[in-house]
Amino acid sequence: VKISEYEIDLEEAVKTINKKNFKRVLLQIPEGLKVHVSSFVDYIEKNTKAEVIISANPCFGACDIAYYELNELDVDFLIHIGHTSIPELGKQKNVMFLNARSELDVTKVLEKAIPLLKAKKIGIVSTAQHAHKLEQVKTILRNKGFETFIGKGDSRIKLEGQILGCDFSSARSISKEVEMFLFIGSGNFHPLGLQLSTDKKVIACDPYTHEVKSTEDLKEMVLRQRYGAIARAKSCRIFGILIGTKKGQQRIDLALTIKEKLSNAQKKSYLLALDYFSPSVLETFAVFDCFVSTACPRIAIDDYMQYKKPILTPVELDILLNYKKWEDYSFDEIS
Ligand code: SF4
Repeated sequence: VKISEYEIDLEEAVKTINKKNFKRVLLQIPEGLKVHVSSFVDYIEKNTKAEVIISANPCFGACDIAYYELNELDVDFLIHIGHTSIPELGKQKNVMFLNARSELDVTKVLEKAIPLLKAKKIGIVSTAQHAHKLEQVKTILRNKGFETFIGKGDSRIKLEGQILGCDFSSARSISKEVEMFLFIGSGNFHPLGLQLSTDKKVIACDPYTHEVKSTEDLKEMVLRQRYGAIARAKSCRIFGILIGTKKGQQRIDLALTIKEKLSNAQKKSYLLALDYFSPSVLETFAVFDCFVSTACPRIAIDDYMQYKKPILTPVELDILLNYKKWEDYSFDEIS
C-alpha cells in the first residue's frame, strides 16, 4: 500500500490477520507517520474483521515494542510500522514489523552530492526508509568511476548498509576499506554519529529537502555542547542513572557498572527506570544534580537544549571519570 511517499506492506498484515482470524489488532506508528494514522486503520478495517487500536504513546524505534498494551488490552496482533525489527531481540510472537520504504527519488540529490565526494572509495549507508535505494546509488556511483562499499551490521541491524541512531556497525564493518561515507537520509544525528564512529568524512544527502552537507561544522557544534555538558557535570554530586524499560533499550548491567564507577569516584547515585523521557518527568527529581542515560543514546544529544540539568551518555561519563580521553569521544551505541 502506498501512503504518502511510503510503500508499506499492509497487505501482508491483512493476510495474517485474516488467516489467523485475529479479532483485535494494535497499531504502533512512529511520530513522523502519525499524520496518516487514519489511512492505516481504514485499510485494515476495510480488509479484515478486526478492530484496530492505535497505540498513542510516542514511538521512535524498533526498540520500542508495545508489550504493555499487547498484554493488558487483550490484543491478538501488533503491527509495528516504520521500522525494521532488531534481530537480536528475537522473533516476537504475533508482532509484525512493516518498514516504510520511501519512494522519493534519490538521483537528483545524489547528483548534487557527487562533486563533494573527493575520494574514490565510498561507503554508502542509510536508514531503513531508504536502504532499498542503496543498490541504485551504488550503480550510479560506479558509473561515475567510484568504488562503492555497503557494509553488514551486527545483530541489531536488519538490512545491508542500514544504520540506527544506536548502532553504526554496518559502517564500521567497511570503514577500513573506504575513504569517506555517503549517507542517504534525513536529520543530523545519523550522519554525525557515522562520522564520530568511523572517523571518516561524511556527506549527507537528504532526499526530502534535497540538501547536501558535510558533517564537519555540525560536528564542531555538537562536540562543543557535549564538552560543556561534561564540564557542568564535574561539580555534580548526586547522579540519577536512567534505565529505559523499552525492550530494546534496557541496559541494566551497564547502569550497575556506572553506579559502581560513580561510587568509586565518591559520587552518590540512584537508579531510575522509565519508559518515556521528558524534561517534565526528570524535573520532578529535583534531588539529582545530573543524569546519565543508559536508554536511547539519542536522548542526551538530540534533546540537550530541553533539559535544565546535564544528561550524559555512558561514554561521556567515562570521560568525566577519566576512564576515557576526550579525544576518543564517540556516540553511545547499544551493543
Ligand atoms: S534505542 Fe534509540 S536509536 Fe536505537 S532503535 Fe531505539 S529509538 Fe532508535
